[in-house]
Amino acid sequence: MSTRAVPVAPRDDLGLVEGYHSPQVDVSVRLNTNESPYAPPDEFVERWLAELRATPLNRYPDREARDLRAALAQQLGQPPERIFCANGSNEVLQTLLLAYAGYERRALVHEPTYALHSHIARITGTEVLVAERADDFSIDTDAACDVIADVQPTVVFACSPNNPTGTVEPRETIRALIDAAQGLVVVDEAYGEFAPHSAIDDVRDDGRLVVVRTYSKVWSMAALRLGFAVAPPWVVDQLDEVVLPYHLPAATQIAGRIALEFDAEMRDRVARLVSERERLFAALGEIDGVAPYPSGANFVLFRVGVRAHAVWRALVQHDVLVRDCSGWPNLEGCLRVTVGTPDENDAFLAALRAALTEVAG
Ligand code: PMP
Repeated sequence: MSTRAVPVAPRDDLGLVEGYHSPQVDVSVRLNTNESPYAPPDEFVERWLAELRATPLNRYPDREARDLRAALAQQLGQPPERIFCANGSNEVLQTLLLAYAGYERRALVHEPTYALHSHIARITGTEVLVAERADDFSIDTDAACDVIADVQPTVVFACSPNNPTGTVEPRETIRALIDAAQGLVVVDEAYGEFAPHSAIDDVRDDGRLVVVRTYSKVWSMAALRLGFAVAPPWVVDQLDEVVLPYHLPAATQIAGRIALEFDAEMRDRVARLVSERERLFAALGEIDGVAPYPSGANFVLFRVGVRAHAVWRALVQHDVLVRDCSGWPNLEGCLRVTVGTPDENDAFLAALRAALTEVAG
């Protein structure tokens, strides 16, 4: 960031907020941002473009995204009144915090976790409280419930599978948080479809649970920016009040609806990635000095020890980009690799073996 004086200073409290950036380096094998390595089917793209061509672009999009919500509701077996859509799940999270957090309110996060939970909380003027995880990275339910009882946050975040650790929270943990909380419990399931279970079925009209999902990963649609919440209708109404009018472009609404007709293809991509994840996990476990953590997502966190940053740099030299998490809370010595195609995963494993030898030597 530039240190030059600026004519108008931003809010004082923003000085405490660090930016969130994943370094983008020009390499052939990019396994750093948890995108799908597979494009969506050609037929989906054709159908989407055809409908877009027939859309009057001089008109605002449907403000309530009714067709998209109805289609999503049907796919999830939920009433449409429980669905809220926005530009990526990040915008869903931001809208939740704008509506329920902010000045003199608190949000609870469990570190290490997705950095945007605390980042957006701070930008919205929310005080961020941190609970530590257990050694296996699962949420320490007793510790979390104690903090909740003490400070009564209006938003309690959980992330399952958790980014960057891959940890899937047991259903009982989420239920314990719901029982303890007086605010909302927001479960970020950006990687939910890669995991064995979801919290969506626990959403109740008179409950406090909100589940957030994205099209960026399993639907292979990161470029289109679409995420959604499954929430009690009174929460959805509030989010509709707070979000900007006509926030969701017609192109995105149409894409989100048509994508759902390619559900079988999505499930096939997910199954392939899950099986590659297990192969990657096993192969990492066989490399001397490398300790992978079990993952329910499309990435694997692994510990390589004090030389983690040097290993990350050596991987870049070998044309492979992963995420260096070694500077994050409680993640000393850790890197995170996104599951790619079988060829990309092989290239990564070969590069890692070479990098470890080079860094040791
Ligand atoms: N939640 C988690 C846990 C994530 O890892 C990500 C993306 N890295 C997001 C939300 C945001 O996804 P998007 O805004 O693309 O939907």
